[in-house]
Amino acid sequence: MGNGGHLALVGGTIYRSPDDSPLPDGAVLVQNGTIVAVGPKASVRIPADARVLDCSGLTITAGFWNSHVHFFERKWADAATIPANELARQVEQMLTSHGFTSVFDLGSMWENTRALRDRIERGEVPGPRIRTTGAGLLPPGAMPSDLVLAMMGVMKFPAPEVAGAAQAAAAARKLLDAGVDAIKLFASSPHSPPLPESAIRATADEAHRAEKPVFVHPNSAADVLTAVRAGVDVIAHTTPQSGAWDAAIIAAMQKRRVAVTPTLQLWKHQKRHDRFSAQEEFANTAVGQLRAWAAAGGTVLFGTDVGAAEYDPTDEYAAMSAAGMTFPRILASLTTTPAERFGESKRLGRVAPGLEADLVALRGDPAKQVRALGAVELTTRAGKILYRATT
Ligand SMILES: [Zn+2]
Repeated sequence: MGNGGHLALVGGTIYRSPDDSPLPDGAVLVQNGTIVAVGPKASVRIPADARVLDCSGLTITAGFWNSHVHFFERKWADAATIPANELARQVEQMLTSHGFTSVFDLGSMWENTRALRDRIERGEVPGPRIRTTGAGLLPPGAMPSDLVLAMMGVMKFPAPEVAGAAQAAAAARKLLDAGVDAIKLFASSPHSPPLPESAIRATADEAHRAEKPVFVHPNSAADVLTAVRAGVDVIAHTTPQSGAWDAAIIAAMQKRRVAVTPTLQLWKHQKRHDRFSAQEEFANTAVGQLRAWAAAGGTVLFGTDVGAAEYDPTDEYAAMSAAGMTFPRILASLTTTPAERFGESKRLGRVAPGLEADLVALRGDPAKQVRALGAVELTTRAGKILYRATT
């Protein structure tokens, strides 16, 4: 960056927001981390001392949010002491090389994720803005065995198992007192009875008292129904285990104004050892659920479960498109919708003067070919370059 703290991205096509028409041959001028001008290249005055990045042929959007990630793989353990360079490479591989400048972690060891976030916020490690639920609340007996965790590549950390409303409220309060940004709970598990609706409601009430959202991991449409009745805010997965989402489920979800993180590519990953026909049926069921939700005008937050699923989100974009979501709606799920949901829309989510310079430059035009959302050339957060492709 130049002496005046100026950075200029010059020559790309700019999608200022999902609702604005694209701005060809544009320029974005950043000063001290904030966007100060956006417009046609010819009309934006670039100061002589600005650091200029030629973005000809690229597409520029606001930085992406992934609203379902996990910092629970073994590689993140001891985040306070991993050498900064190694930690930076890990963050880049999972997130910033795919354009993610804001993430919501839905299950990890709170103290460890906080240590990672602190190192990023101190400027020691380039990385995204992190929000986290800390450990999720589980039904009794739902914690996978040590062997399963080891095979999943997940570090061992304690998670509160809650039987009823009182225990659930107490566990939620403890996490909130420790400073988490939201509460995550598992509505059920394969090895135990589901959480009673009263426990989910008690959890939601505690979180909402602290003005924090609640995310639920459902394993079936029945779990979704219970959770929305109990007041959760975000459904963290589609549920291909239980077949199509019918009109009654969609209506209940809409009535409560919940949001969904689709995690579509997760399902093929989970079924990767099974026959293609089984993989495809499972994945297509989830695509159908998102199709029904999107057709009803439901709120979608982009989310992949990265950490439990693959790092490259390109297939997720293709699957969302197959579910009938247009490019502007997919872009909204990555930018404006999460910024609004999580109270950041004055600061993040658009390419506009006064907002933080969280930006992504893409090779190709995702309005023409949605997979271009996965072809990231450059990622900035508050005007700092977090990632730049070397090829
Ligand atoms: Zn998850």
